[in-house]
Formats: sequence, C-alpha cells, structure tokens
Amino acid sequence: MKEIKVMENILSANEALAEENARIFRDKSVYVVDLMSSPGAGKTSLVTRTIEKLKDEFKIAVIEGDIASKIDAEKIQQLGVETVQINTGGACHLDANMIKKALGAISLDGLDLLIIENVGNLVCPASFSLGESLRAMILSIPEGDDKPLKYPAMFAECSGLVLNKIDLLDQCGFDMEKAQQVARSLNPNLTIFPLSCKTGEGLDKWTEWLTGKVRS
Ligand code: MG
Ligand code: ZN
Repeated sequence: MKEIKVMENILSANEALAEENARIFRDKSVYVVDLMSSPGAGKTSLVTRTIEKLKDEFKIAVIEGDIASKIDAEKIQQLGVETVQINTGGACHLDANMIKKALGAISLDGLDLLIIENVGNLVCPASFSLGESLRAMILSIPEGDDKPLKYPAMFAECSGLVLNKIDLLDQCGFDMEKAQQVARSLNPNLTIFPLSCKTGEGLDKWTEWLTGKVRS
C-alpha cells in the first residue's frame, strides 16, 4: 500500500519557504513577531497598544492576517505605520508563502520591527513557521484557564504569553495561578505578561521585554 503523507509534505515545503523569509529578515535586520491567539483575544488591540508605545523608538510595520475583511488593517494604518492586509480567503492560518508575497509590498529597509497578526485560531498557526524571530500568543481571561491544557501545541511553541483582559478577572472566575502553572509545564521558557489592553495595566512589562528583543 502506498501512503501519502500530505501534511508532512505541506509542512516541510512551508519550512523551506520560512527559512527563505528568515534569511531576508536577517539580511535586513528586521525583528519579526508572529502574534497568535483565538479570535477576539485582543491581537489587534495589543498590536495597537504596542505601536503606540514603541513607534518613536522603532520603525514598525504590520502584516494583518484575516480570513476576510480589512477592518484590522485600517485600524492599524491610522497609527501611521505601514500595513499590509492578507486575506486568506478561508484558510485558518498564515503560511510562509503568504508572508513571502506580502514582503513585496513592504519596504524592509530601515525597518526594525515587523509584527505579523496571524489569523484568529489556537490550532494550526502553531504548525506553520513564517520565518519569524519570535512567536507570541494571547490568551484572554474570558476564554478560560483551561486553554493551555486543551491547546498545548500553541503554548509549547511560543516564547511570550500575554494574558489579556485582566480587568475582567473578577467576572470570569479565571484561575491565574493554574493557567500559568499549566502553561509553564508545557513550556518552561515561557515569559508571561498579565495585562489589560483596555486599561493599560501591565503593558509596560510587555513592551520592555519586546524592546529588549528587538535591540538584541
Ligand atoms: Mg485582529
Ligand atoms: Zn489553519
């Protein structure tokens, strides 16, 4: 019997393209963050807050990944940073080839930080490298503290975990200790940032950490 390993082939083709992207980013000294989360966790809000804090220090550009619409890209563009919208037309994650195409629309010269907002999804974005320097994810408080147990790959793959919407902790019965403990058991190298994009609480720790990464 012949067995065709479709997923393996797709992923290895993606890895090769991701390595090409990574080479381009290294050549141009651009630090690239792949930001992932489920829909509604606050990716665009975090990107907005991050740009507001860091735009005087770094030249920043954003790639917005969505299945449809350009609502998020329009919000980001209002902040005066170069923004490219990728509409995947149904695909539930970005892949390295999409990023490669988007790079044609971004001027990388002099760019310090490229933030890629992935499609809202806690599953397959974890499997597709884009050529990024850093993977970060958001878990928002209303989603529940059981998500690290239910979506372990995403938590294992990221170096940064933002726990967003801490202003809703009282209403949501989210066990902060438990969530962080499980996330760290999946990934001992995880740096965790409890914060609220709404109130601004905790944001400085995240932007300071990111600043250190971009400068290194
Ligand atoms: Mg968004
Ligand atoms: Zn997908």
